[in-house]
Amino acid sequence: MAVRDIVRMGHPVLRKNAIAYPREKIGAPAFATLIADMKDTMANAGGIGLAAPQINESVQIAVIEVPASGSRYGDHEALPFAVYINPVVTVLDAETAGYWEGCLSVPGLMGYVERPQHVRIDYIDEYNQAKSLVAQGFTATVFQHELDHLIGRLYVDRLADTTQLAYVEEYAAFIAQDGSTERASDPPDE
Ligand code: ZN
Repeated sequence: MAVRDIVRMGHPVLRKNAIAYPREKIGAPAFATLIADMKDTMANAGGIGLAAPQINESVQIAVIEVPASGSRYGDHEALPFAVYINPVVTVLDAETAGYWEGCLSVPGLMGYVERPQHVRIDYIDEYNQAKSLVAQGFTATVFQHELDHLIGRLYVDRLADTTQLAYVEEYAAFIAQDGSTERASDPPDE
């Protein structure tokens, strides 16, 4: 159990396809340590999601924990802490919506990214059970951001408009004040 260093954009591990986690290793001591480290590291950084490559482990595991509505992330459903192993995203409706995203591996910046808002995630849970869930809205964006980390993608790759990339302070000063947006004043780091 430890807080691990989070690697930043430019580290090659963030650009690799992570390998599928062997199911026979789920539940073993090394697995338990990795999950505990990811949980501790995410909590320490104040993030709502963390993918294994962000702590330099190139395996297909992400952890997500979204606090309840009314938090700093605005209105949306809460998602209790969970582990997603070898996840696969299927887009159920291609209609997109945008959110300002932040990333623990791209500190200090945020960008406006449009993604499909209705997806299914098929995955293995930490008890080695095959699971499936449907995510909509902000939650769908969170999953796609995290699972992109497992295929070497960062949110900055998904910017449709690079003028919509800002430092946190400038975002707060100039963009979050803009009544034309419906965005959280302090976007999440994932
Ligand atoms: Zn991220």
